[in-house]
Amino acid sequence: MVNKIEKQSGVAFILKKGQKLKVIDPLGEQVSDMVLFNAEDIREKISSGKTLDFEENLLITKGNFLWSNRSRKMMEILEDTNGRNDFLLAPCSPETFQIMYKNPAYHPSCFENLYTNLAPHGIEPDDVPTAFNIFMNVQFSQNGKLSVDPPQSKAGDYVLFEAQMDLIAALTACSAEDSNNGSFKPIHYEILEGF
Ligand SMILES: [Zn+2]
Repeated sequence: MVNKIEKQSGVAFILKKGQKLKVIDPLGEQVSDMVLFNAEDIREKISSGKTLDFEENLLITKGNFLWSNRSRKMMEILEDTNGRNDFLLAPCSPETFQIMYKNPAYHPSCFENLYTNLAPHGIEPDDVPTAFNIFMNVQFSQNGKLSVDPPQSKAGDYVLFEAQMDLIAALTACSAEDSNNGSFKPIHYEILEGF
């Protein structure tokens, strides 16, 4: 069954060890931020630093694992039809729009959509780590200059993950103009039993 995340919103759900999660960009050029917690102990969570260290790569895609702050595998990436994801930048937050977009008005954000959906699981805003930013196209030059470019994902592109432990997962349809080539679109996902 395909589940739909409306534009500029998010969800959280349980994913059992061995289940697969398929995150789909239905229209193209739409980022989805994902965070993961150990369902048995929410102090264990997805870690950008551990993942980049153990996978020895800045670009995380098919064949890579997502690691926790306790140096354990949380997910394996089985398939990635687009191949470009980001694991450097924090989820967009209200301050992102105030500081980087010079927009003092209320603006939906991945950070708010993550922590509000994770609250029923006992997870607080300060617990939200750097997200794995599916389909996000962050480019970096040799001297380290970063730029957030339009996603390269086309309609129907997807990433397929397999849970390596019981997880609380949260996903968004990202709310930042620059990350999504100026328009906000939905994200689809499916939970598939192990096979
Ligand atoms: Zn975002």
